[in-house]
Amino acid sequence: MHDNTYLPDHFLRHIAAIMPAHLSMDEFVASCRRPLRRSIRVNTLKISVAAFVARMQPLGWQLDPVPWCDTGFWLSREDESVPLGNTAEHLSGLFYIQEASSMLPVTALFACEQTRRDGMLLDAAAAPGSKTTQIAALMENQGMLVANEYSSSRLKVLSANLQRCGVTNVGMTHFDAKVFGQWLPETFDAILLDAPCSGEGTVRKDEDALRNWSIESIDEIAAVQQGLLESAFHALKPGGVLVYSTCTLSLQENQAVCQSLQDKFGDAFSFDSLADLFPAAEKACTPEGYLHVWPQIFDSEGFFVARLRKQHSVPNTMFKPGKLGKFPFLPLPAKESAPMLREIEAAFGVVPQGNLFGRSEEIWLFPQLFEQVQGKLRFDRIGLKLAETFKKGYRLTHEWALAYGDGASKGFVELDIADAREFMMGRDVWPEQEAAGTGEVIVRYQGHTLGMGKWVGSRVKNALPRELVRDNNLFV
Ligand code: SAM
Repeated sequence: MHDNTYLPDHFLRHIAAIMPAHLSMDEFVASCRRPLRRSIRVNTLKISVAAFVARMQPLGWQLDPVPWCDTGFWLSREDESVPLGNTAEHLSGLFYIQEASSMLPVTALFACEQTRRDGMLLDAAAAPGSKTTQIAALMENQGMLVANEYSSSRLKVLSANLQRCGVTNVGMTHFDAKVFGQWLPETFDAILLDAPCSGEGTVRKDEDALRNWSIESIDEIAAVQQGLLESAFHALKPGGVLVYSTCTLSLQENQAVCQSLQDKFGDAFSFDSLADLFPAAEKACTPEGYLHVWPQIFDSEGFFVARLRKQHSVPNTMFKPGKLGKFPFLPLPAKESAPMLREIEAAFGVVPQGNLFGRSEEIWLFPQLFEQVQGKLRFDRIGLKLAETFKKGYRLTHEWALAYGDGASKGFVELDIADAREFMMGRDVWPEQEAAGTGEVIVRYQGHTLGMGKWVGSRVKNALPRELVRDNNLFV
């Protein structure tokens, strides 16, 4: 019981006025005070659900399926001495800690044939990246996903999560998402707008979430949401699909935002009913077909999800191309890229997928569809940094290892648990069971990549980026 959860009276009166008749306010309050069940999502870019379950069950992990996400599980662990984020499986990106109801919007986006995994997709408000990584996994790293975030500090977390999870098809941008309708009209096959909101659904995670709650602040944020939704709608191709979601409960930020779009462009799109999205979805379904997830319905955080399909174009008075600085990359000439790819394949048995671009001392691997947005948008990072070059060659990056290392058929070293711990603490290791090799080596533990190292005699020199070095309580 979270007795300190702040639930002000004026908030409870507001909620009582909009709570559907078949739901009880007492249960709402009781569920807001109950701690959340822990949930995770398996990252299928790195491991299948079956292999993950087989790996974790012997460690005393009990995994109960989340009914609306094939890769989502509620988790209880016999031994909680190691924080979830410090487990070997988290460090090598096998799973993402994500609240169960927050898995719903991406399920809704992909439960419709218009959303193609090799398409051009937009995640308009992306950090910290739970849904970006969920989308990338469903796209199987194909096509291209533009992941935008307005807050600089949150952009860094997003980037770290993409790298940890081995995501390679994302271009990250840093704008007020209002620009997409203006700069990139009718560009995206599918869009997720997981909008900034007042977070009324998050009190089970953050007991102070409602400290600054007021009707005025809701109205203010609803105006922002309307602007973002309208802009996203312009950026959607006719025939495309858009999901609007929030982790809040007020009608102003949810139903009314959808209604505002309907009032403007109602003949150009229709909302889908999500009543059949998963068994029991109808318990949260509104008359309009949206999912309004009250925390007591599925014992989760509160959430709202609406999905629309755009039938035809609408006049776009917003259109105005953005100003772009000089694009600092050049495609890598074939005489440089071909030998490099051959060398990587010869050393590791994997071939990096995508287009190689270079800038000063860096070589990058851009997503397949990048050319569709090249010259139209300024990116903070595109795809994956493959290597850093120096006079006599190049050094493959940590992020390359995390994306490709699990698939390597050679050029890797498998550590035992003691060495794996040492490695994650930034130390060199002397793997006894392996014959020493030469050059760069992918460092793995139980088949999954921890990072890169370099053979120096029988020692593997540690090449883990400093910011990833852990100093205590590492995985069991
Ligand atoms: N989709 C994310 C996830 O699943 O991990 C959570 C997104 S959170 C609900 C909303 C995000 O929108 C925040 O990271 C916030 O910084 C960002 N944001 C706020 N105003 C924005 C704007 N005008 N344009 C784009 N992003 C914005």
